[in-house]
Amino acid sequence: MTLVAEDRKSKVQETAQTAESVVAAVRAEFPYLEHKINGRTPIFLDSAASAQKARLCIETLQNALTRSYANVHRGAYSQSAQSTLAYEKARKQVAEFLGAKSEQEIVFTSGATAAINLVAYSFGANVQAGDEIIVSELEHHSNLVPWQLLAERSAAAGKPIKLRFWRITEQATLRLEDLAELLSSRTKLVAVTHASNAFGSIVPIEQVAEMTHKAGAALLVDGAQAAPHLPLSMKELGADFYAFSGHKTYGPNAIGVLWGRSERLNVLPPWQGGGEMIREVQLEKSSYREVPARFEAGTPPIAEAIALGATCDWLASQPRQLLHDYAVGLVRTAHERLGAIAGLRIHGTATDTLPIVSFTLDGVHPHDLATFLDSRAIAVRTGHHCAEPAHRALGLNGSTRASFGIYNTFEEIEALANGVAEAAEFFGSAG
Ligand code: PLP
Repeated sequence: MTLVAEDRKSKVQETAQTAESVVAAVRAEFPYLEHKINGRTPIFLDSAASAQKARLCIETLQNALTRSYANVHRGAYSQSAQSTLAYEKARKQVAEFLGAKSEQEIVFTSGATAAINLVAYSFGANVQAGDEIIVSELEHHSNLVPWQLLAERSAAAGKPIKLRFWRITEQATLRLEDLAELLSSRTKLVAVTHASNAFGSIVPIEQVAEMTHKAGAALLVDGAQAAPHLPLSMKELGADFYAFSGHKTYGPNAIGVLWGRSERLNVLPPWQGGGEMIREVQLEKSSYREVPARFEAGTPPIAEAIALGATCDWLASQPRQLLHDYAVGLVRTAHERLGAIAGLRIHGTATDTLPIVSFTLDGVHPHDLATFLDSRAIAVRTGHHCAEPAHRALGLNGSTRASFGIYNTFEEIEALANGVAEAAEFFGSAG
């Protein structure tokens, strides 16, 4: 049935209304948004750095610390057994959130950074002289420096490897043709982000995975930015490793996840030694447990894992595609409203994007702009956002970044645009 224009309009309005009511309900789940800064409700536009915490995360964390705390996998008493069950349930919840085949594929780490370092260390232990690792120029430093360290370690061990760089376009996107030119039988691994933390650009991971596997290499995906926004299915994505952080996913700090395809994870050596990861310890040598225990040396962040599991469950129960579409609407509006300000340039114009917008205002230092916006209770990030090579490739020293979470609204975009326009006037922007 073809919709006439009026019907179409009302359908659009209905969808927008539905999304708005979902966002309103979501906002009510974030206690941070209930408090005031100098009498104003804070407009938090820095979720890409660290997101506000869902009520369920806070309550679960508090409960796990006050009413049911004990170490896991160790005690013979009932509280320890219950703690272990809750910790392992969290692993299952995270596996479901990621659409993983099994909870055995979930390793708890201290964050996305640690998850990537784990792969660089353990997978990296098997590299041979002449192997190549492809890293994109779009990366957060967390998915670049660990590979540089691996290259240094390998060179020191007499088996030098080569890092090859997948350059970005002027739009801060990655071209598959460019990847095709880099891939060869020497490629051991491709390390790429699912989405840029600085410019929002989403990378077509399914296609990257197909190309990478055709070349016989493994694919590590940094999901730190994508996990809070995109519905995920590890069964379909095609990656071999996927990393994300709890604190960007409306969950607790100091915890993150490495998902690894079983066939890949099971053959990796441990990366840290200590309690929990061992099977038997002799003075000279030890043997190690199966995955995931092999990669979880020492007492894990127990309450944080339990709270992350609950948060992932809650997030998965939300209409994620609807929220993502709404967020894309926010970023499009931000582009329109900010783009109309004289002297303002938006950097990164991918069509497939997360709700992240980075911009510069001629003649105004990003820090001054952020301080001006802060006086209006609007929080944005400035600098290179730990993506210095990507900024440099675009000829930038830094930028101002507004990044939206599932609680941001069109009114807040309006306030941002008005604040930036006032700043342009105040500082006499060269535009
Ligand atoms: N990767 C990306 C794309 C990020 O945006 C970040 C943090 O900003 C990280 C990795 C590192 O995350 P964490 O500091 O939580 O380990």
